[in-house]
Amino acid sequence: MRTLVLNAGYEPLAVVSFRRALMLVLNQKATVLEQNEAQKVHSANGAFELPSVILLSRYVRVPGGRLIPVSRRGVLRRDMHRCAYCQRPANTIDHVQPKSRGGADSWENLVACCLRCNNKKGDKTLAEIGWSLSFTPRMPHGTSWMVRGADHAEPEWQNYLAA
Ligand SMILES: [Zn+2]
Repeated sequence: MRTLVLNAGYEPLAVVSFRRALMLVLNQKATVLEQNEAQKVHSANGAFELPSVILLSRYVRVPGGRLIPVSRRGVLRRDMHRCAYCQRPANTIDHVQPKSRGGADSWENLVACCLRCNNKKGDKTLAEIGWSLSFTPRMPHGTSWMVRGADHAEPEWQNYLAA
């Protein structure tokens, strides 16, 4: 059971365990916006419904320009598991500028790629093989990327996750 934490300005900030969420509420650092009525915790002070979404009472400053670490899973998700070259379902990733030729492990240089295209492309550059990309690979943005754990959203969170 997890809880979505909203900053005082209602922006999604983090996903935490309900225990941590409950502590924030009990210490009056946050208020409950949504709760999961099906589940209750019992303590010496009575029963609590598990908070599903909480709002921080004070605004937390978030350091600007948070970077999202690149990963194979992340690249496939960003490209919706579609091959960047032929649009067919993709399970592998390709270095646009081959790694063996100085290509970086970066959001800008990695794309989802089907096995067939991956084998065909091998160590060639796009210019050498005569292929092109229909989009410019970039670091993804939006709440579901910025807030760890928000990509698997609980139903009660939907109204609070903008992107
Ligand atoms: Zn392909």
